[in-house]
Amino acid sequence: MVVDFDAIVSIDLINEFVTGRLGRPKFKRVVRATKELIQKSGKFAILVQDSHGKEDPEMRVWGEHAMEGTGGSETVPSLKGIARVIKKRSYDAFFETTLEETLKQRGARKIVFCGVVTDICIVHSVASAFFRGFLPIVVEECTDTYSSGQKRRTLDYMRKNYGAKIISLTDIIGK
Ligand SMILES: [Zn+2]
Repeated sequence: MVVDFDAIVSIDLINEFVTGRLGRPKFKRVVRATKELIQKSGKFAILVQDSHGKEDPEMRVWGEHAMEGTGGSETVPSLKGIARVIKKRSYDAFFETTLEETLKQRGARKIVFCGVVTDICIVHSVASAFFRGFLPIVVEECTDTYSSGQKRRTLDYMRKNYGAKIISLTDIIGK
């Protein structure tokens, strides 16, 4: 099966969430798979990334992370320059960003969401994509979270509630 899609939105593959306080070694696999997807598919890609201010609501929950202007909010080295960056200040990649207009200007409707973490920023962005009329797709190898059980449950949740297509990397780029 080769799955057709229009664009890739990579979320929070920044230093904070890979090698920083909120990162995990296994998230490096997500970076590699996302890079492979972007390069081999040749599709339009955007990196939407946390870049927080001290007054953002998330500070109350997580404390300071990925603060604007710090290394934590920078794209991980292996993805730097691979695509345009849009900064965000909440879990939702569409909230107060130019993502929706950027995708709609290009006529993109089927959107692959990649990145970390599955049960927070990915699920909120997939929900937001659904509310806006996009057709979300999630590639299993291109996302992860702290617990594997929670990843599985969240993928099911997105499939059931937002009609998200859950596929594997080989469904797009072959073996
Ligand atoms: Zn954040």
